[in-house]
Amino acid sequence: MSKVLLITGASAGIGAATAKLAAEAGYDLALNYRSDMQGAESIAETAHNLGVRAELFQADVAEPDQIDAMFKAIDARFGRVDALANNAGIVDQGAPVTAFTHARLKRMFDVNVIGAMLVAKEAVIRMQAQGSGAIVNVSSVAARTGSANEYVDYAASKAAIDTFTKGLAEEVANQGIRVNCLRPGITDTAIHAKGGAPDRASQLAHKIPMQRPGTAQEIARAIMFLLSDDASYITGSTLDVSGGR
Ligand code: NAP
Repeated sequence: MSKVLLITGASAGIGAATAKLAAEAGYDLALNYRSDMQGAESIAETAHNLGVRAELFQADVAEPDQIDAMFKAIDARFGRVDALANNAGIVDQGAPVTAFTHARLKRMFDVNVIGAMLVAKEAVIRMQAQGSGAIVNVSSVAARTGSANEYVDYAASKAAIDTFTKGLAEEVANQGIRVNCLRPGITDTAIHAKGGAPDRASQLAHKIPMQRPGTAQEIARAIMFLLSDDASYITGSTLDVSGGR
């Protein structure tokens, strides 16, 4: 029986690249997206062409009811969750802390922190029943650097994910469930345009020791490694995939 991998934010960027690699590796895919149905459908079609099952689950991870409904639908369609790429995330327009509003902070933490924690919770409940599972939480090198004058709120939300990973990993380590954290550096995806800076990845390349942004596929490869049995003794770890930054 194929393993079932849930990827949140699978319609674009790192999530989409992860879906393609996972399909090549033979996983069946539960593909979550929020708004980009066309992107999600295109990824599902790629997966189908590679001979695996791929189903779409529209849900905004900032809405607890939608997370519950998504997992009920996954239960009905797949009956199990073997792996989770907890990837959905947002930035906002670059701004200093003095410009932040409550609404901005709430959205940032609802999506990047509470959403990710609730998705992990639901996955763990299913993995506990199965006696095995692997989770990769997608953080950011911003958790280390702080992102001053850009998005300190985003950086702080990702630092929460680092700490959440450590604690959750310890809670479930003796239950056959591994939980790790992956910190991408600046990666060439559409997230930068969504934050109002479409050229951000190339403009900041000079700050990266390797002098270039990463590709979504380079991040996805590391996610797939941490989810795989090749990482069978790795849990509670944080892996930087960031060109040396
Ligand atoms: P992206 O290209 O903008 O893709 C983001 C994905 O997340 C999309 O599929 C989007 O779905 C989904 N998403 C956003 N909000 C959501 C919500 N509320 N509920 C469900 N899905 C939601 O971004 P990316 O660069 O691939 O980023 C993926 C992850 O890597 C994020 O956690 C990000 O913080 C992290 N990261 C990225 C970079 C980078 O430089 N790119 C660096 C460090 C960390 P829809 O489009 O369907 O709404």
